[in-house]
Amino acid sequence: AAKADGRGVHRFYSDEMLAGAKSRKALEDDMRTALSEGGFTVCYQPVVSTTDAHIVGYEALLRWNHPTRGPISPADFVPVAEECGLIEGLGEWVLRTACAEAAQWPGEVRVAVNVSPIQFANPVFPALVTSALAHSGLPASRLELEITEGVFLDESGSTDAMFKALKAIGVRLALDDFGTGYSSLGYLRTAPFDKIKIDQSFVRGAAQPGNRNAAIIRAIVTLADTLGMETTAEGVEIQDEIELVRDLGCSHIQGYVYGRGVPAADVIVQLGGTRHAAPVGHKTSR
Ligand code: C2E
Ligand code: MG
Ligand code: MG
Ligand code: MG
Repeated sequence: AAKADGRGVHRFYSDEMLAGAKSRKALEDDMRTALSEGGFTVCYQPVVSTTDAHIVGYEALLRWNHPTRGPISPADFVPVAEECGLIEGLGEWVLRTACAEAAQWPGEVRVAVNVSPIQFANPVFPALVTSALAHSGLPASRLELEITEGVFLDESGSTDAMFKALKAIGVRLALDDFGTGYSSLGYLRTAPFDKIKIDQSFVRGAAQPGNRNAAIIRAIVTLADTLGMETTAEGVEIQDEIELVRDLGCSHIQGYVYGRGVPAADVIVQLGGTRHAAPVGHKTSR
């Protein structure tokens, strides 16, 4: 049976189904077909500045509308793609698509692309990034790569070299889902992040009196400020949360309160075709 995953997306594969080797294999086969036949799409969710309420960029989010099962969440199929070796091809496709689409956006509007630890561990990755930028014409400064704490579990010793290579290209680096993964802060000493994304589990309930999440957000923002990093509060759903995370000093907000992911064509409409990022609240005609 389908179940809600708490993010408003229905999972059409139950845990039992995913556990079965047969359905796992079917899912792999369907993903390979989808990748070669254009079955995946990318949607874009706005990231908004807390200081002037303008859209500064969009996060690229992978979407898969399965031909018979309907929409499947990336939270369900990305882990399978990572296990079966498909994430490299899928991740490259997302990177190239997002760069090409973002190159059409006005002004300095950025695009953020999620990068799997498996992609990050591959020495060829910086060359892929360079190629995606060159083919699309997107300036490196407008591409942000989102990585998770999972990259620090790599023991090959190549993580520092990867950070250096990516910073040399000029892309921005964001630490995604901060606070939910690898329980060490040591990597913040050297990793050259431009931004920390505060996981939505800390935003959830933070605006309620006595909730401890606000204290945690405040501590993360203090840490990020001291290290010269921006902060995005993820999963902001209501006005009270906008005000709270702004008061706590977060520099950016991302969440349903400002909109869900939309197709690239709608981004152009949201941005109003102006040279500069459009103010939030500018409604599309759809
Ligand atoms: P993420 O990178 O942390 O992306 C944010 C997720 O939170 C997205 O879920 C987004 O739709 C959801 N979200 C945004 N605002 C809100 C809100 O206000 N409330 C709630 N409840 N949810 C909100 P989505 O698109 O289902 O993606 C889930 C995860 O799948 C992503 O988490 C990311 O880890 C992974 N993912 C998505 N696209 C890609 C991709 O292209 N490559 C890789 N490697 N992973 C991806
Ligand atoms: Mg992300
Ligand atoms: Mg996140
Ligand atoms: Mg996440």
